[in-house]
Amino acid sequence: MAHRVRITGVEDVTHDVRRFSFERPAGFVFEPGQATDVAIDRDGWRDEKRPFTFTGLKDWDHLEFTIKIYPDHGGVTNQLGGLKKGDALLIEDPWGTIRYKGRGTFIAGGAGVTPFIAILRDLEDRGEIAGHRLIFSNRTERDIILRETWEAMQGLDRLFLVTDEPASRLAGGRIDADFLKRNIRDFGQHFYVCGPDGMVADVNAALKELGASPDALVFER
Ligand SMILES: Cc1cc2nc3c(=O)[nH]c(=O)nc-3n(C[C@H](O)[C@H](O)[C@H](O)COP(=O)(O)OP(=O)(O)OC[C@H]3O[C@@H](n4cnc5c(N)ncnc54)[C@H](O)[C@@H]3O)c2cc1C
Repeated sequence: MAHRVRITGVEDVTHDVRRFSFERPAGFVFEPGQATDVAIDRDGWRDEKRPFTFTGLKDWDHLEFTIKIYPDHGGVTNQLGGLKKGDALLIEDPWGTIRYKGRGTFIAGGAGVTPFIAILRDLEDRGEIAGHRLIFSNRTERDIILRETWEAMQGLDRLFLVTDEPASRLAGGRIDADFLKRNIRDFGQHFYVCGPDGMVADVNAALKELGASPDALVFER
């Protein structure tokens, strides 16, 4: 069922990522990690649906998306980049397979961190963040979404990587089998993986090769 919701706030998160706060329809319920199909309520755009993840907490009075804008696509995110408070979105009911299943490591690439924003915020809110780990890969440091938020989460173990910024003091390189072998001691935990399709496939394959149970891998199918 489509819901028409008004945008109540737009803020910059990074140079190309925006936070959209918007009205929560009465009775609208989602689980952290879930996404929905979104369209812009404007002539010519109502049938152009794209999936975005709810990044707020379940009990907030409003809903939130954290969206990377791609001006060069000429698509929905380019249009979203021009929206302001008072404009409206059309959102469907929530869907998605990424859910919290138990203690583990969250492995994200770029805007793939969005389902983990909701899950890790929820764990922190419940006082259960300790013992979890976030491995977050980006092109450069300025692409890291909510770096200060992750750094402020007491008890969250963090590892930031950059692939395209040799001068950075953060770790470089890709998340492959060799990286995972060097950086993960226990392959018996849950692994949550989200990012570009190729990255998700490669990381899942490497995790399985290193002993992770296919049942313990959580990703969008
Ligand atoms: C379950 C799910 C949840 C998601 N949640 C979020 C989220 O919370 N936040 C977020 O930022 N993103 C999220 N995404 C990704 C988001 O849906 C896409 O970024 C969005 O659909 C892009 O829309 P668009 O209209 O701007 O681009 P589209 O026109 O739909 O482009 C789609 C794809 O085509 C390719 N493409 C198109 N044009 C170009 C071009 N000029 N150059 C290079 N490649 C191009 C790219 O691969 C691109 O991703 C999610 C995706 C899924 C599947």
